Amino acid sequence: MKVYFLGTGTSQGIPIIGSDHPVCKSADAKDKRLRVSAWLSWDNHSFVFDCGPDFRQQMLVSNCQQVDGILFTHEHADHTAGIDDIRPFNFRQGPMPIYAHQRVIENLKRRFDYVFETVNRYPGAPSVCTFEVQNNIPFSVGNKTAIPINVMHGDLQVFGYRIDDFAYLTDVKTIEESEIQKLKGLKVLVVNALREEPHATHFNLQEALDFITLVQPEKAYLTHISHHLGFHEEVQKSLPENVFIAYDNLEITI
Ligand SMILES: [Zn+2]
Repeated sequence: MKVYFLGTGTSQGIPIIGSDHPVCKSADAKDKRLRVSAWLSWDNHSFVFDCGPDFRQQMLVSNCQQVDGILFTHEHADHTAGIDDIRPFNFRQGPMPIYAHQRVIENLKRRFDYVFETVNRYPGAPSVCTFEVQNNIPFSVGNKTAIPINVMHGDLQVFGYRIDDFAYLTDVKTIEESEIQKLKGLKVLVVNALREEPHATHFNLQEALDFITLVQPEKAYLTHISHHLGFHEEVQKSLPENVFIAYDNLEITI
């Protein structure tokens, strides 16, 4: 299985428009972060986590030519606003399978009504087929099984996903013990770490590290990163041996 980090930034991305912050001004490519997303592929299967506003650019840069489905974590704009750009895949493959909590599907129907329109559809509008994700109900992705992981982003429910010995969790602030049990024996855990200071709805760095200690994956990669976390190079040096800051266009094999 290959994991390609399409984006590793928090909601505004890095650099932030108009910002003079040193991290936003950094010349290091690893300090430039598109909105958070990842591409998982194996054999002839290909799935993407979320579809944020940088989706088009991410598909071009990664040269992704096939997407068998999009697994949505939640409805926030940094995870969904790129849905109009699934059209090239529609023209090649047909309607895009999307997997999400029913609440997220309803939210997308309100915000992107033309995608779901059945009467007088605009020719060339994006098209999807929806699959409701429910907690404790694993589902098929290609020839593998995805296990939903129920987490909380402040007061908002979010799904993470485990596929084989890989798990992708973003926008976590709290997680129940029953869900942590679903994450035992991982080779790779991806989890969000916003910055050093605490935040109401995201793990800060220490909370992410404590969570990694609890889950004990072989390796962990941090994502959904704010410019406030600091320079990639410097922060990486301060981390435990098996913990890495993900960066855009990083590709790992599991
Ligand atoms: Zn987010």
